[in-house]
Amino acid sequence: MAFEGLTGRLQSVFSKLRGKGKVTEEDVNEALREVRLALLEADVNFKVVRDFINKVRERAIGQEVLKSFTPGMVVIDIVNKELTELMGGTHSKLARSTRPPTVIMMAGLQGAGKTTTSGKLARLLQKQNHKPLLVAADIYRPAAIKQLQILGEQIKVPVFSLGETNPVEIAAKAVEHAKENHLDYVIIDTAGRLHIDEELMDELKQIRDAVKPDEILLVVDAMTGQDAVNVAQSFNEQLELTGVVLTKLDGDTRGGAAISVKAVTGCPIKFAAMGEKIDALEPFHPERMASRILG
Ligand code: GDP
Repeated sequence: MAFEGLTGRLQSVFSKLRGKGKVTEEDVNEALREVRLALLEADVNFKVVRDFINKVRERAIGQEVLKSFTPGMVVIDIVNKELTELMGGTHSKLARSTRPPTVIMMAGLQGAGKTTTSGKLARLLQKQNHKPLLVAADIYRPAAIKQLQILGEQIKVPVFSLGETNPVEIAAKAVEHAKENHLDYVIIDTAGRLHIDEELMDELKQIRDAVKPDEILLVVDAMTGQDAVNVAQSFNEQLELTGVVLTKLDGDTRGGAAISVKAVTGCPIKFAAMGEKIDALEPFHPERMASRILG
């Protein structure tokens, strides 16, 4: 599983604490120094690390914690709770429009996993008895339309495509098509580029203004750590994202993006992708992720 590096280090810090019958303030400070280093090495944003350590220290020292029966365990529990808070506290649900279809716009840089994730999300919704429509609005990457069509065929979800025409028109017509055919979710796979540029953002804004999506989800590659967080921040400033999807967590040994993206951008992580297969997408639960990270 992912985060081996971070989990291993935290476990060794905690096993020292856990073993102690008596924990002093110095023990806590020592443990937190090591936690801090582990988080920085995991590529967690340094401000996020600083605030996190301060919060844990405040709660762990000066209270009744150190006098408690199992002080080490209490400190570990505080770390767990603060880590959960950092990643959003509770699960943030996908929006559902009271006037279907619910429109979801998928954005992201090329290679982040946007097209694959669109297919996975359609699959997830289909399993919940919804009727999704996939929309091929990434008209620049030649293989993207075909890739989405193949995914659609695989899971038997319709794919709306008008070839390489205007993506704004494609998106608007797709929503109409969904209404006429009683499809309750529209998932729009928009164009990605290698870098964030004005042209890309303008196009995304035009699509957003045309279809007024209920969700604008940014797909980011967790393996890119703080780069993913920076990408999320830029997209959020331009588009006001409603959520983030972290992909490639199966290959992420560090965990920096997962831990800091919510704290830095304010956008909740709504889904996590952990593999290339069509079923490898899960709703993101901060408390489960914290437990996974702490091992
Ligand atoms: P796009 O350019 O953002 O649309 O990216 P694609 O959807 O084409 O994905 C790029 C590559 O990443 C493909 O080879 C996918 O199979 C792979 N990929 C996507 N999500 C995941 C994931 O969660 N785990 C792994 N290991 N690979 C993924």
